[in-house]
Amino acid sequence: VKERGGSAISVLTADDHERLNRKSMIEKRLIHALDRHNLRLLYQPQIDLKTGKMDGVEALVRWEDSEIGIVTPDELIPIAEENGMIHEIGLYVLETVCAQLKDWHSRGLDINVSINTSIREFRDKDMAKAFLEQIQTNGCDPKNLTIEITERFALEAESERSIVKQMQQLNQAGINFTLDDFGTGYAAFRYMLMLPIKNLKIDRSIIKSITKQEKMQKLIKGMIQFGKSLDLRVTAEGVETNEQLELLRAMECDMIQGYISGYPMEAADLEKWMK
Ligand code: C2E
Ligand code: CA
Ligand code: CA
Ligand code: CA
Repeated sequence: VKERGGSAISVLTADDHERLNRKSMIEKRLIHALDRHNLRLLYQPQIDLKTGKMDGVEALVRWEDSEIGIVTPDELIPIAEENGMIHEIGLYVLETVCAQLKDWHSRGLDINVSINTSIREFRDKDMAKAFLEQIQTNGCDPKNLTIEITERFALEAESERSIVKQMQQLNQAGINFTLDDFGTGYAAFRYMLMLPIKNLKIDRSIIKSITKQEKMQKLIKGMIQFGKSLDLRVTAEGVETNEQLELLRAMECDMIQGYISGYPMEAADLEKWMK
């Protein structure tokens, strides 16, 4: 229990200390990791259900530090959002993806890559400019890039003119947007009309329950139809079983992403997987 104590230290429990220690370690080591290019990206395939072919991949950040071990994105991203280092991570991810795209392009591979962004990145007024500069410096094609924003992001962004402007700027340069984590509870669908969004990704937590209840199936079917009625391409995320896959196919879901068709993998493994 945190009470007003004599010193700031005495109000913290041992657990608090451990958490704060780990957090400050992560913050310190992250600077080092970005410097040394120690963050890696894995690429998880997204499959078009009509053709059965890969439509693109999602880039997912991975970090194993020599001192603190594995730091999952679910731990890393909130810390980086809080201390502002998400800007550096965002540019690092973009730079890495651009280099990868260029390499793929030079070997005749035309692969679309989705990257994840946080609203905090867009609150920097120069974010779109920095992104477009990075793309130009690296000489990759913005048409191969998609930016995923979360539903929560979209809800906040709708009322922040400078964010909408930056999204439009990126969109005009050829970058697509995906609305991620759809259905997780922030639904207020107006934002879909305001923002330049092309794809909709139904959250894994919802897909997970598709086989459990008849009602859930109706709900998911409704979400897919809803997306399609707005001319969005709909992806189901976190598809793990054949049963889920077949239900989604019957519901005319456009795409899937999940362990059933491919785990997140190193670029080189992805290339082998594609053959
Ligand atoms: P997300 O954007 O919703 O990404 C999908 C997550 O589901 C990934 O977790 C992926 O590995 C996992 N996944 C994919 N298919 C399956 C499946 O069939 N079953 C299960 N159980 N899981 C599946 P991951 O890589 O741990 O990333 C977690 C979250 O961290 C991401 O959720 C995203 O919000 C965030 N994140 C990851 N990389 C980045 C990044 O470069 N920048 C930012 N801002 N956020 C990132
Ligand atoms: Ca995502
Ligand atoms: Ca997602
Ligand atoms: Ca998610």
